[in-house]
Amino acid sequence: MNIYLRENPHDQISKFLGYIQQSARIKILLIIDQSETCVCHIESILGIRQAAISQHLMSLRKAGLVTTRRQGRHIYYRLNNPEILVLLFQIGHSLGISESAMKQYSLRPYPGCSCPQCKPGPEHDQVC
Ligand SMILES: [Zn+2]
Repeated sequence: MNIYLRENPHDQISKFLGYIQQSARIKILLIIDQSETCVCHIESILGIRQAAISQHLMSLRKAGLVTTRRQGRHIYYRLNNPEILVLLFQIGHSLGISESAMKQYSLRPYPGCSCPQCKPGPEHDQVC
């Protein structure tokens, strides 16, 4: 390994934080929580353009935080390492944010969402 190509710890951490810094990305991580989550579910909650969501998810993938799996016409995301949740909850705690406020994003079913997990039915591929 070439030491000159390695980044300093502070550069690595800065780069990592750069990938997750936007509030929508933090919300996405809290939405996914411990469950595999359909992109359409994330779309329902965020209510922003799919192109913007793809950009956020790509950034989270670059940070190594999420992995993706396709099943039929659905694309699912899950956290690679749930320790990021511990970190986010610790930050929230230090800011005086209640745990229930942090957990509200992962509640399912989400009203009006028709993803396979919110509206399971015979025509959907169920994942649980
Ligand atoms: Zn849903």
